[in-house]
Amino acid sequence: MYITHLECGLCGLEHEARRLLNLCRACGKPLLVRYDLERAQQTLTKESLASRRSDLWRYREVLPVDNDENIVSFGEGWTPLLRASRLGESIGLRELFIKDESQNPTQSFKARGMAAAVSMAKELGAKKLAVPSAGNAAGALAAYAARAGLEAFIFMPRDTPRANVVECEQTGAHVTLMDGLITDCGAEVGRRKEAEGWFDVSTLKEPYRVEGKKTLGYEVAEQLNWELPDVIIYPTGGGTGLIGMWKAFDEMERMGWIGSKRPRMVTVQAAGCAPIVRAIEEGKRFADEFPNAATTASGLRVPKAIGDFLILDALRESGGTAVSVTDEELIAATREIGAAEGVFCAPEGAACLPALRKLIDSGDVKASDRVVLFNTGSGVKYMESFATD
Ligand SMILES: *Cc1c(COP(=O)(O)O)cnc(C)c1O
Ligand SMILES: [Zn+2]
Repeated sequence: MYITHLECGLCGLEHEARRLLNLCRACGKPLLVRYDLERAQQTLTKESLASRRSDLWRYREVLPVDNDENIVSFGEGWTPLLRASRLGESIGLRELFIKDESQNPTQSFKARGMAAAVSMAKELGAKKLAVPSAGNAAGALAAYAARAGLEAFIFMPRDTPRANVVECEQTGAHVTLMDGLITDCGAEVGRRKEAEGWFDVSTLKEPYRVEGKKTLGYEVAEQLNWELPDVIIYPTGGGTGLIGMWKAFDEMERMGWIGSKRPRMVTVQAAGCAPIVRAIEEGKRFADEFPNAATTASGLRVPKAIGDFLILDALRESGGTAVSVTDEELIAATREIGAAEGVFCAPEGAACLPALRKLIDSGDVKASDRVVLFNTGSGVKYMESFATD
């Protein structure tokens, strides 16, 4: 057990670690996990990784869960960082990579977060887990809860991709479809959770999904031989992966694994739901709710994120930015990436390509920059998005 405490991401208030907690009791913002890194680094060394398991639990000392028996796993993480030479050449980049998260259990990177969150919920005694989801978080929670022997209560917009609804039903979850957006689903969980005895595992409303997703940062560093890329392009909804990677870089620096250089972090959002892009343009630390959110990239249809300030702080500190792309652009990019590299991206992941083009056009990304795009899920779950193709 290397966790020392939980710390509020906004006001810094410390909370004790071994309890089921959601948000900061003082200000209602997300809690982040802090570790005794000096102790962790005694056994978690770069050299030790060579002989460790090939999933995200290879970074065991900087992950939650006290007792190994509580780890709920399908072998998530340690996905390939694919060199995308043909695509890179076509847009004038020498070193382009795709972190292919479609190869995770339940076909998206939501598996990383849910592996950590469900393991911790199990360890700390929760029995019923509830989540609002735009799709992939639901599929991941349903699978991990079933594997843990826990109940999953899932709330999704009625127009969520059908694959996500069916996978939840077939893995034993209680599914409720709602008229509205993920924010409306979240409000419903909030209203009912106390009476129903549900533990809320919404994005950033519990501390451990970020811990699972931060392993993206450890993996990219390890796969690039401990030299971080110049630019990371990340399709951002609730922002868990981006916040997690930023946290991972900080932890790795404290353990002496990397220096102070950071990638420029770039958020990609759909033009129909771009609250973070708008907040960057307007210089705000908290993002306003985006009105009438609409995009076929369902994972990006998050009009208001509780961790908005953590995303925005990371983008600004890194010298990065936020870019929006239209649905037409991201759907066209799915085929372009697929044809060039053979990766059938989720529309969210495909959105990274038109964003990258815009950054090349504006001079923000240069031919010599080493760039990593995050393909966060598989296109297979989005048949509706390609229906008119
Ligand atoms: C959830 C999701 C995202 C957004 O991830 P966040 O960490 O919430 O920003 C992007 N792509 C896919 C495929 C998703 O399922
Ligand atoms: Zn606080």
